[in-house]
Amino acid sequence: MRSLAERYAGKTVLAVGAHPDDVEIAVGGTLARLRRAGTRVVMAVVSVPGEHQLRRREAERAAGILGCEPCFLMGEGGKRIEDLKSYELVALLDRLVRELAPAAVFAHGPAELHRDHVIVHEAALATQRLAHFDFFTYQPNFCRPVPVAFHPRAYVDITDTIETKMRAIDAHQSQFKSRGIETGIYREMARMNGRMVGVQYAEGLEVQRMLVL
Ligand SMILES: [Zn+2]
Repeated sequence: MRSLAERYAGKTVLAVGAHPDDVEIAVGGTLARLRRAGTRVVMAVVSVPGEHQLRRREAERAAGILGCEPCFLMGEGGKRIEDLKSYELVALLDRLVRELAPAAVFAHGPAELHRDHVIVHEAALATQRLAHFDFFTYQPNFCRPVPVAFHPRAYVDITDTIETKMRAIDAHQSQFKSRGIETGIYREMARMNGRMVGVQYAEGLEVQRMLVL
């Protein structure tokens, strides 16, 4: 099969994360690779909690490092994802899918520890009724490792973009550096995934739906 980079060259890919930094941590290396291969990549952040303006700026900087277009679905105002009715969240994602007509969507998977990540996963699942796109779910996110059921079936070699990914993660200073939280774990996870497929660094994906030929 052609590489994902060739598969989506000249097309649009949508990556959805509940919060700023979720997408960078899970698939930042993949998105940077797609971008370099000529894919338009839109990074959608559902909710920007806490210090909205600061975290939004960090997310914009991180997206810029990856070469992607940031997009914020819920505005400022203190609302959290759980405050939305499920149809409201689905409507937000529907609008994006209709507007972008993505060739692929990357989103949270079902085994997330955080309830709001699971809610975003369920809303992303629902958007599949609108159009045919490849649908991948990514590694559950955490600052400290917890046991979760994640079984990647596809791997993206991110050896060429691991440093870009790490810079994008580090752009979220309020989440890591300012709180004294180490980001090295994300490099180690990419190293472990790489070992699974014989490359230096990789990101793992669960394939939810994919047209093979
Ligand atoms: Zn999150």
